[in-house]
Amino acid sequence: MRMVDIISKKRDGQPLSSDEIFWFIQNYTNDTIPDYQVSALLMAIVLKGMIREETVTLTQAMAESGDMLDLSDILDYAIDKHSSGGVGDKTTLVVLPLVASMGVPIAKMSGRGLGFSGGTLDKLESITGFNVNLSDKEFRRIAKDTGLVLAGQTSSLAPADGKLYALRDVTATVESLPLIASSIMSKKLAAGANGIVLDVKLGHGAFMRTLDDARDLATIMVQIGVDAGRDMVALLSDMNQPLGVAVGNSLEVAEAVQTLQGEGPAYFHEHCVDISAYMLKLAGQGAKWVDIDETRAEVESIFKSGQAFDRFRQMVIAQGGDVSQIDDVTKLSQAKIVEPVQAQQAGYIANIFADKIGLASLALGAGRATKADPIDHAVGIEVHASVGDKVNAGDTLLTLHANDENRLKDAMPLIQAAIEYSESAVEPLPLFYGVIDGTDV
Ligand code: URA
Repeated sequence: MRMVDIISKKRDGQPLSSDEIFWFIQNYTNDTIPDYQVSALLMAIVLKGMIREETVTLTQAMAESGDMLDLSDILDYAIDKHSSGGVGDKTTLVVLPLVASMGVPIAKMSGRGLGFSGGTLDKLESITGFNVNLSDKEFRRIAKDTGLVLAGQTSSLAPADGKLYALRDVTATVESLPLIASSIMSKKLAAGANGIVLDVKLGHGAFMRTLDDARDLATIMVQIGVDAGRDMVALLSDMNQPLGVAVGNSLEVAEAVQTLQGEGPAYFHEHCVDISAYMLKLAGQGAKWVDIDETRAEVESIFKSGQAFDRFRQMVIAQGGDVSQIDDVTKLSQAKIVEPVQAQQAGYIANIFADKIGLASLALGAGRATKADPIDHAVGIEVHASVGDKVNAGDTLLTLHANDENRLKDAMPLIQAAIEYSESAVEPLPLFYGVIDGTDV
């Protein structure tokens, strides 16, 4: 097989065969095909697209480019969730202990944040000593002993995706539905899940700006999972404004803890209940948790019982974290400068642009612009208002947590541009826009 023939076939809009896709992924992973040829193929995929069969095959080939985790010795049913990335999205920290408390053990691998959407691992590392770099043996032992473990993806998980993503990033080929869907789903398939709940975000702070685009991406990912024999559901959820109040690593851990204790923001609490209910629905496999509303009610009672918070504590202890910081979140690292930002006028909040809040938190040091950047766990932003709120001039809308005056200065223009007012009443944003069920695609 010759790479040039595969490139020209895709350039001319023809579907690639399974053999061609596997050949290109295997040979790119073992460095036999140069970046320039793969760049050309990626651009041809961006321009000409891929049909369902090609996208599914590409995902399988990427998943099989490294280790395929088999969790069947520790879990009867491996349930996973994935968020397509959002500002203030600390959902995983809450839903995992919730679902585990309902009797469904979880062994999950997560990624780090890049750009303005923070990663779960970065958030957990705000807890002093919390170890996300577990060996396969430790990962399985903790899952077996405590029923909940959350570790970093190893480089042997879908290595083709790591190489392809780095190349896409510098060749203007990130924005392609088949490439995004195969990238996300290859890691999920390799991580050994039987069932996957996708939280596909849409809006100003998301990869997908519109409902149509988010629905298309969600549908492709659900199709990939179903064709690979996994149980799938995708929720389309709002990312026009940040999720919850806290944006930034320690702040988000504190908010996750408050939520597990039943004291989190209502909007975020509800989001976690929904995601948990769908995870349970898949894990119940038609025998349990079939009715979403009844399951939501069960999840609410777990929230109230404090069991999920206990489960989170156990995970922190099992992974070496300082549990006193969970019992008293003021012991998590704190920023030196705490600066309130007031409403400049009276009116209704028309927009709190999540992308600008995300960029401002990046400017403060909470995220990383490149993979090698260090992050400051203490800094971030609290967003006290939501779209639709009525405010008076001088009300505190945000609180910035910074460790550096210059960074604070850089963040300010983004913060000012993030808030828009309206003189007339504004409808609050919905949490969810729809559900795509794997049994329908
Ligand atoms: N997240 C991924 O893992 N891959 C993409 O291509 C986009 C978002």
